[in-house]
Amino acid sequence: MTSSRGIDGSRGSSFPPLPERLPVEVFDSHCHLDLLDVPVPRALAAAHAVGVRRVLTIGVDLSSSSWSAEAGREHGDVYAGVAMHPNETTGITDDVLRDIAVMAELPQVRAVGETGLDYYRDWAPLEDQQRSFRAHIEIAKSTGKTLVIHDREAHDDVLRILAEEGAPDKVVFHCFSGDATMAKECAAKGYVMSFAGNVTFKNAASLREALRVAPLELVLVETDAPFLTPMPHRGKPNASYLIPLTVRSMAEVKQVDVAEMCAAIAATGERLFGPW
Ligand SMILES: [Zn+2]
Ligand SMILES: [Zn+2]
Repeated sequence: MTSSRGIDGSRGSSFPPLPERLPVEVFDSHCHLDLLDVPVPRALAAAHAVGVRRVLTIGVDLSSSSWSAEAGREHGDVYAGVAMHPNETTGITDDVLRDIAVMAELPQVRAVGETGLDYYRDWAPLEDQQRSFRAHIEIAKSTGKTLVIHDREAHDDVLRILAEEGAPDKVVFHCFSGDATMAKECAAKGYVMSFAGNVTFKNAASLREALRVAPLELVLVETDAPFLTPMPHRGKPNASYLIPLTVRSMAEVKQVDVAEMCAAIAATGERLFGPW
């Protein structure tokens, strides 16, 4: 891999160049390796080169969940999440939920997610989304895996349903999108907040304020790749090797040095998804 080639190996690649390596290895708590235009080994090699050691690749339906579980079995440093994304829950059946529950037992599957509620898109009826979310909470509890929540404009109902069902021990709000008040509420409950590349965007002051008040030990980083590419590459494709840009910007917000930020993320990652 030379600097004139992108991580996809092509000259004039649309992928941004490799950022400076992090001083302490971290991991990407949420990406979609199956949606990248790059073979998994290449995506991992680029990530390793900049200090992003492990990735959690996330399922959104039965086929991507089984793809993720298979990727986790096949590749070292890849772990999987399995779930039906809230947008995929229209008419969801017990058979589908049973299939997710079976996959969730696999050793390389470390998360039940992404599940939750999406009131922004509301592609699926709210009753279906909520029924599915409740079932996924139950699967996380019965398997002891971490619940990874997709919460889009549904903060109140996500928190309410978690309280009603009884939250699992380990809960992550992926691509955290709440404000400082919500961050404090999550912190009080021990929920972990995972920040994505949008925390680097100019118009994300309220999100940075949420990060500022979130306890360091309850913070994770993710790409949600191929989406949400951090600054200054917004609009280009995203992949796990761009995590350093987000981590450095998070360290600034938290007013800690980058190594301390990385060490906290690594420790929280291992606590939630390890042992590696
Ligand atoms: Zn999501
Ligand atoms: Zn996602």
